[in-house]
Amino acid sequence: MAKLIDGKAVSAQVREEVKQAVAQRVASGKRAPYLAVVLVGDDPASASYVRGKARASTEVGIESDTLTYDASISEAELLDIVAKLNNDAGVDGILVQLPLPDHIDDRKVIHAIDPAKDVDCFHPESVGTLVIGLDGFQPATPAGIVELLKRSDIETSGAHCVIIGRSNIVGKPLANLMLKKGLDSTVTVCHSRTKDLPGIARQADILVAAIGRANFVTADMVKPGAVVIDVGINRVDDDTRERGYRLVGDVDFDAIEPIASHITPVPGGVGPMTIAVLLQNTLMAANRA
Ligand code: NDP
Repeated sequence: MAKLIDGKAVSAQVREEVKQAVAQRVASGKRAPYLAVVLVGDDPASASYVRGKARASTEVGIESDTLTYDASISEAELLDIVAKLNNDAGVDGILVQLPLPDHIDDRKVIHAIDPAKDVDCFHPESVGTLVIGLDGFQPATPAGIVELLKRSDIETSGAHCVIIGRSNIVGKPLANLMLKKGLDSTVTVCHSRTKDLPGIARQADILVAAIGRANFVTADMVKPGAVVIDVGINRVDDDTRERGYRLVGDVDFDAIEPIASHITPVPGGVGPMTIAVLLQNTLMAANRA
């Protein structure tokens, strides 16, 4: 039976550490870190994520405001807002909630954020810093995974880490983190064109699934004793639930739990870590300012 990696508990621990560091910063006479969250449109999922980020910030003593704009805002107006936040010395972190409406180029907006305030770690300079292996902002979901591995005492040095998924927010930045000196994994990244994916997955000491397909990773793809990290968040119909669905990961949890050494549940695994890393990044931005 695998050990369950409890993302809620680890996230609470990290948030407590950030809270203490913020309190120390304020006690030393400095102002509290400040995070500006930009929300465009009325997508309920985005609004809910943003509320969660604002609440978590407040809980650790980080001040934050959510700047909300109608979906009809123009790209030029939004770029102007980002420029003002860049120039405001009282703003430490800027987070633009994605996706943006179709008439706005996400990339243009992300690239307009001052890299020193890029707490989401999406700006090309932040990505470059990560690839070179320098210290900088951490990509939220990948860094959350690393934190889970470290705090579960999982050996990453020399481990073969197989990542399924090559997105810019999970697969690619995670590959770069796991390769970094200090973590020292041997990394393989798989995607939809990978040949013999099950065979490669079976070689993994640490297997990370970031695909977006319910139960994609089956027991025959997992080496006994492997560490299995499930990033996926998928809705499957469930009439027994009031809302008519439940959330599952990319991993067939019931089949793999008996053979893995460690496994993350969905929900309650990787998900809760994302906000914790955002708070760490915001504190870092303030301390570096
Ligand atoms: P993307 O859709 O951007 O990327 C999915 C990746 O999976 C792609 O690289 C794709 O390959 C690969 N893939 C898709 N189908 C297959 C297949 N049949 N065989 C092999 N590879 C395949 O997704 P994200 O990375 O954004 O997200 C992945 C999952 O993680 C989603 O469920 C998302 O909701 C969840 N997520 C969870 C977070 C959390 O906090 N827990 C944060 C971010 C995401 P190709 O590139 O070739 O198309």
